[in-house]
Amino acid sequence: MYDLLIKNARVVTADEVIAAAVAVKDGKVAAVLAGETPVPARQVLDLTGKYLLPGVIDCHVHFNEPGYTWREEFAQGSRAAAAGGVTTVIDMPMQNRPPVIDQEVFVRKAELLQGKSAIDYGFWGALVKTNLDKLIGLQEAGALAFKCFMCNPGQDYTALDIAEIEQVLVTLREFGGLAGFHCEDHDMIERLQTASLAAGKTGRRDYLAARPVEAELKAVNDIIALLDKTEGRAHICHVSHPAVAEAIRQAKIKGLDITAETCVHYLLFTGEDLVNEGPRFKCSPPLRTAADREKLWDYVLDGTLDCICSDHSPCTPEEKAEASETGTFGAWGGISGVQTSLQTFWDLAVNQKGADPSLVARVMSLNPAAIFGLYGVKGAVIPGRDADFTVIDPQRNWEITADELLYKHKFSAFTGLSGTGAPVMTIVRGQVVMENCRLRDEGTGQLVRRCREE
Ligand SMILES: [Zn+2]
Repeated sequence: MYDLLIKNARVVTADEVIAAAVAVKDGKVAAVLAGETPVPARQVLDLTGKYLLPGVIDCHVHFNEPGYTWREEFAQGSRAAAAGGVTTVIDMPMQNRPPVIDQEVFVRKAELLQGKSAIDYGFWGALVKTNLDKLIGLQEAGALAFKCFMCNPGQDYTALDIAEIEQVLVTLREFGGLAGFHCEDHDMIERLQTASLAAGKTGRRDYLAARPVEAELKAVNDIIALLDKTEGRAHICHVSHPAVAEAIRQAKIKGLDITAETCVHYLLFTGEDLVNEGPRFKCSPPLRTAADREKLWDYVLDGTLDCICSDHSPCTPEEKAEASETGTFGAWGGISGVQTSLQTFWDLAVNQKGADPSLVARVMSLNPAAIFGLYGVKGAVIPGRDADFTVIDPQRNWEITADELLYKHKFSAFTGLSGTGAPVMTIVRGQVVMENCRLRDEGTGQLVRRCREE
């Protein structure tokens, strides 16, 4: 007797969509059954007309707990994620007080968050100037990757210079650790921003001009050169521009161990949205031109950009406002998107670009699972894996309004968008945590740790 039988589903795999039933026992996929095989189960779900994806993994979110919970916290962030069809998030180590710099902080954060999350969650570890000798301990505690900044990361965190990054890549290689980089060249950005502010140029276009693609490209090329030298491994966070993606494509062709992500906002919005609408559209790297946005899609399609994530980075309305002295430069740079990434990406990929739904499964589940060490347990609808599923109704029309957002602060660049195809059910280890926008959970999400590479 199975615990759950999901029948009449269009099961989305890494390369195709198959008609099948999925049986679940003890929170795991027990069988994927073709055809009309009658099997006994305690609960039966009929998904006629709907897609069953392996549970969506958002590999880059900032839920800000502990320490910055006036912006977001796990209880709210994870419920927003569940409402958006996400079954696992990987939470960033900064905008935490303290940042997750060692094993002790990691364990404290894990204890603090127990019972709070609606969905499963993993942690990035910090990678700052002072904790290079703590990385192996963090990895052993369960950190899925280490976040490193090449430009000024703001308070409570430090950026690394090129010599330090080289050392880190060598160190991480010894125990199979993965560093993820925020790539914008520190010196170039500091120079441009300082000059812009000194000249009283504090507007929206000035901000865009002070964070040019050249800064992102230089930083990525520096990482690529170091990978070549050290035979290390790197993940490039939030690629915003096709020229950067092209550099990564070339590095992959060369055989370097590099992966990359982009965010839905780089595929949907442009710098003109920031200019016209204001800081709701401010992020870093910044939004680029319409032509860049269109070209970036090619690199999603060809697999250069392995993962699509939200980089959910909320703040208060006051923090998001332009400042009196520093204008747009003083507004918080970050976009809240964990609840709306899947539906907006689905509509773009499947409806507008005509991509196969398997693309969504690859970039939002399989690839993040593989890169962040979860592929033994998550990322695919195959026997033995966690029964994490995202159910999509391809006919469901949606319009994103502020009042349906479950974030602590109900504003986002995504409000006002409309489309078709949305998550209608989120299942984590066999438990339905969201059905038709209603959340059923009691904080049953669990911490996931890095598992052995396959
Ligand atoms: Zn981020």
